[in-house]
Amino acid sequence: MHPAPTTPPTVMYRMPPPTPGGINEPQECPYCRRTFSCYYSLKRHFQDKHEQSDTLYVCEFCNRTYRTKNSLTTHKSLQHRGTSGVLKRLLKASAIKNVLGSMHHQMQMQQQPQ
Ligand SMILES: [Zn+2]
Ligand SMILES: [Zn+2]
Repeated sequence: MHPAPTTPPTVMYRMPPPTPGGINEPQECPYCRRTFSCYYSLKRHFQDKHEQSDTLYVCEFCNRTYRTKNSLTTHKSLQHRGTSGVLKRLLKASAIKNVLGSMHHQMQMQQQPQ
């Protein structure tokens, strides 16, 4: 007996229209019930959280994917803050160590002319 493949239904999220009160009135996101001070805040939230996009932003540090550049930037600043700097320093330090170590050996090995 084969389990039926569970395909989640594709939900198409649509940007909700502004309330009749106008775009400067507080707006509620119909998908997560959060309230925003104006339509532009809601729009930004919607694009960030609910909008379906084909573009994926990949984190170069851990290969996680994000639908918006905003989320990826937030993720990187939270999870990998200073990672590139630390990594570079570590690489540099170990490279210097390796160079020094191999130089030491090479100097002993290369003392006889070829
Ligand atoms: Zn929402
Ligand atoms: Zn990451």
